[in-house]
This record gives sequence, C-alpha cells and structure tokens, in this order.
Amino acid sequence: MKRFLAISVLVLSAFLSAAQPDTPVVQYLRENPRRAAFNTHSYEFLPLHDTPAPKGYKPFYISHYGRHGSRSEWGGSQYALVRDILARAGEAGLLTPAGDSLMHEAAVIYELYNGMDGRLTPRGVREHAALAERMYHRYPEVFRDGSKHIRAVSSTTPRVIVSMNGFTARLTALQPDLDIDLDTGEKYMAYIAQGENGTISSRTERVMAGHRKTMRLDTVAVLRNLFKDPEAGKAFVPDVIAFQGAIYSVAKVAEAFDIDDNLFRYLPFGNVVQFHEMNFLSAYLNQCNSELNGALRLPLNKPLVDILVRQADEVIAGTRRNAADLTFGHDWPFLGLVCYLGLEGVSEKLSVEEAAANWLPAYYCPFATNLQMIFYRSRKSDRVLVKFLHNERESHIPAIQAVQGPYYDWNDVKAYLARRVPSAQIVAHRGIWKGNAQNSIASLREAQQFGCWGSEFDLHLTADDEVVVNHDPTIDGLDIQKSTLAEVRTKKLANGETVPTLAEYMAQAVRNRDCLPVLELKPHASAEREDVLVEHCLKALRPAPSNIPPQYARRLEPAKVAFISFSHHICRELARKAPGYTVQYLGGDIAPSVLHAEGINGIDYHYSVFYKHPEWVKEAHDLGMSVNVWTVDDRKDIEAMRDLGVDQITTNDPALVRTVLWEACR
Ligand code: MG
Repeated sequence: MKRFLAISVLVLSAFLSAAQPDTPVVQYLRENPRRAAFNTHSYEFLPLHDTPAPKGYKPFYISHYGRHGSRSEWGGSQYALVRDILARAGEAGLLTPAGDSLMHEAAVIYELYNGMDGRLTPRGVREHAALAERMYHRYPEVFRDGSKHIRAVSSTTPRVIVSMNGFTARLTALQPDLDIDLDTGEKYMAYIAQGENGTISSRTERVMAGHRKTMRLDTVAVLRNLFKDPEAGKAFVPDVIAFQGAIYSVAKVAEAFDIDDNLFRYLPFGNVVQFHEMNFLSAYLNQCNSELNGALRLPLNKPLVDILVRQADEVIAGTRRNAADLTFGHDWPFLGLVCYLGLEGVSEKLSVEEAAANWLPAYYCPFATNLQMIFYRSRKSDRVLVKFLHNERESHIPAIQAVQGPYYDWNDVKAYLARRVPSAQIVAHRGIWKGNAQNSIASLREAQQFGCWGSEFDLHLTADDEVVVNHDPTIDGLDIQKSTLAEVRTKKLANGETVPTLAEYMAQAVRNRDCLPVLELKPHASAEREDVLVEHCLKALRPAPSNIPPQYARRLEPAKVAFISFSHHICRELARKAPGYTVQYLGGDIAPSVLHAEGINGIDYHYSVFYKHPEWVKEAHDLGMSVNVWTVDDRKDIEAMRDLGVDQITTNDPALVRTVLWEACR
C-alpha cells in the first residue's frame, strides 16, 4: 500500500508539474520573445485607449519623464565572443545553418556597435520622434491653445540629450510656433538620474547570489542547434554557460540596431526565461518597491517627485507659463518614479519569487519608457484632474479613489504623495548591537546592511590623545580619559572585538556611502581636552591612505557626516570649525533659536523634551535646523515623534521604528 501510495504521489506530482500553467512572465515572453531583453527591449507600442475626460474638462498641461531611446551596449566583447567562437568552428566546417546565421548576425551587430558604448541608435531617435508625434496628436489643445512654451531638461548623457532633441525637433516640425527651451547640466542630475545606492545593491547582491544557484540551464540544446557535431563543437566553446550568456547579450540589442530577426531563438526557451529572470530581478530589487528593499528605495525618488509636483503646481497657480515640462533621463530613476507614484503593476510590493513570476519588466521599462501626467481643468470648477499614462497607456493608482475612470483629483494625488514615504530617518543607537556589542564595528556593519540613515557611536579621548569608540567613560574599571590607548586596547567588547579606535571605525563607515556616521563627542574634563577631541575628529574626516582610501573622500563630505554632543562647548567648536556639517546639541535645555544664533544647525533631544516643547520642532525647522530625537524604543513614543515631524529618530530598535514609520504611509 505504501509503495502504491508513493508511486501515486510521484505520478501525480509529475502530472501536476507537467500541467503547471505558464506564469504571467512566461506568457508574455511567449507572446513576444523579444521582451526577454527587458530594459534593452526597444519601445513596444501597444494599442491605446482613451477614456473620455469628465464633462467640461480639457487638458492644459503635460508633465513627462522619458528614458532615452534604443542604444548600444557597453564593450562589445560579448558580440565579438559569439562571432569569433562561431567563426573558428565555421572554419572547421562544423556550423549548422543556424550557427552560420548567428555568426553573421553577431558580426553585423559588432560592426554597427562600432566601438560606441551606450550610443543612441537611429531607432532611438525615431522612438522619441514618434512619441512626440503621438503626444501632439492626442492632446493638440495643450500645444495650440496655451502659452506654447515648453521646457525640456535632460540628463548630461549624450544619448539622453539626443533623445530630447529627437522629441522636441518633431514637436517643432509639427507646430513651428512652439517656443521650446532645452537644457542639460550637472545640477539636474541629482533628481533626474540619482546614482545607485550601496546599501540596496549589496542587499540585492546577497539575495541574487542565492537565486543564481537555482538556475538550471540546458547546456546541450544550444550545441546541437549551432554545431553539426555537438561534441566536436564543444571544443570551441570553453564555457557553454558563458557562451549562452553572450548569445543572450547579442540578442538583447539586435532590435536597437533595427535587426528584425529574433535572436533569442538560438537559445532554448527555458534558458532565455532564466537569463531574463536573472537580468530583471536584480533591477526589480534595486529600483522598485520590492519586499526586500522598497522601504529603502522609494524615499530616494522623493526629490524627483517633489520637483514634478512643484512644476505642476506652479503651472496651475499661473506662476509658470509652460504648456509642458519634458524631462529626459534613465531607466532606474524612471522605475523609482513610477513606483513612488504607486502605479498599478510596476509598483507592486513582491517577494523575489512573486516578482520572478509576475512582474513584467519589458512592459514596464523598455527603451524610451515614459510617464505622462496629463492635467485637465474645467471652466466651471477649480478642481484640477490628472491622468497618468505609463508608456502612453492609461494607468491607475490603486491606493487612491479616482474621480472617474483614470482621472484623479490632483489634490488627492498630492495628499497621497505627501504620505507615500516616511518623513523621518532612522539612526541606530550605538549601531545595531543586539547579538553583537554596542559601538562595535560589527554593530555599525549591521546598521549599514539594515539601511539605517545613520549609525551613532560615542567617542572619548585617551590620556595620550587617541580617540576611541565606547559609550561609558570606563571599561572594566579602566577610566578611558585617564588611560593610554595601549591600556584601553587590552580590553575587549562583549563580541570579542578590541575596543575600536575612531580611525578603525571610520574605515568601516566609509565602506557604505549611504549610512551616515553619527559621531557623539563625549564631554571631557576641560574645554582644552574637548578642543583636542574636536581636532582629532575633524582630522578623521580628512582621508589618509592608511585608514580611509582617498577614493572614499566624498563619503565624508558635510552632507554625509553628523556630529552630536551633550557639551555645548563642543557643539560651538564644531559649528565654527566644520561649517556645513550637521551638528546637533543633545542637552535638551536650550531653545533652537539660541543654538541657531551660535551657528549650531541641529538639535537631538530626548523625546520627553519634545513632549514638553513640541513647538521646538517647528521652531528648529523654520530656522533650517535638523531635529533628531533619542532614544526612542517604544511604539507610542515612536508614533508621537513621527507625528511631530522630527527628521531623525535614534533608536535601539531600528526594525520597530521602520515598521511604525511605514504604518503612516500609503
Ligand atoms: Mg551616544
């Protein structure tokens, strides 16, 4: 009976796995295999539907963010690898017709690539011209009836500037009296194309390393397809998996060069599905609202969202006369933007497995991917409506109620966006030390990996003028300020680490550019000793090859370091000697305006102080000062401080603070 059951289970599970339906991702790859290129899929124009606007409403303004069009890849070595392996096998008379055809196609792509990394191809220009033309014909009244003034701004990358040019040149051709300003420059990069985030990418890499191990690639079919004698052909392919990866790379950009053939057909479909998955999952985890990183990722797109909202508000208020604002950028900020907006599909919060099955990357973010926000108004109402087009198709924000169809009240959208991400940041108090030791390098590393905004640690000066990291003034009965470094270094932390020096601590701090070191300078016996401590701490910000390699210098610039102290004298000294750095006074007994007059630009008070003086948060903010609060570990206090609008919450429980902060978001 047992044996019968076992066989039945085997048969049933074989049946079930054979009958397993395609996931949505596999279905969409079957529909159009070129989507396996993900973010190097050329723009796929899909049928549009326009829901009529509510009665009396007319479009008057368009805010657009578009990614550059189709481009070449970097390096070209993958194309050369495929071409050369197949050419050598061809000379030995081993290629099948498929092998011969792939060899020629790889050679053509290598030639078209022509050593120009990331260059916009002619197709990329056409994509933008076509987008402009469709936008123009879809919303003619925006261009004909308004100010005729359009402002276009692009990232400084040549392919993006050329994309902007392709778009605006077509608009001008359609309506020569349009007045279009074009601009690009470094100052726009901070919001158009902010860089990668180190914390997020290292978290992603750890997960992807595990996922990579689940890949099961067929290594036989491709040899059979390309070589008359697969065994003999194998001699020309040092690494079959790497070779398939190179074929995948060739196939990914064929469209960008106007090659009509689907080159993914040279690989088994199951392998294409897996290469595609590896390709897009890391982007999903790095850039989107994933379960893993969404809480870290979404806030980074706030600057871009804030600017688009402000531009629209100025047009609505009549202080900006533009008919359209066109912004040209890149794929990753684009994904961050549409996820911040919470657009359906793309912004869903998914696990790695759910994303692998359901998230449709080439649909969300191909070359020339774009977001268009179309604003409407009516003569009879003050209400402004907005419609979101993702790759020109009407999209919804499931978290808010539309007025009608895809039309949202702009005020509802703004209220939603204001609560989309937490306004407070998390500072780990002495690192994340549960299971570690307070103020240990391990606790700092943990805070970096968790994605804290900052990690706090305490500093004392030894008798021989060295700076060490420890909270208490004594270790095992040894008074740090009266002992030498050598004496202090005989002591161990609870996790076995030797008491770290400031230099050692900073060497770990700069390994992550996105978690600020928050240096607490402890009060010392005299103003002179405190001055020496300040000098040493400021010296630690000047990179020296022995501890902080010069390439990390920018990680210690003013925006990337904060100082706190209970010593009023130390705060005044820091404010004087380190202008631009955040300096927060800890004492809780001085009104913000008094500190501000002394040049101190922040406060970091115990939460009981803010219960007594809630008005100090606004007072500080009105003066441009930052507000931190310590040490908040209880839910009700976290909620209270969150609702007061502090900038940072210092805590022993970063996970709880993150949960409570996000509870107030939508
Ligand atoms: Mg402290």
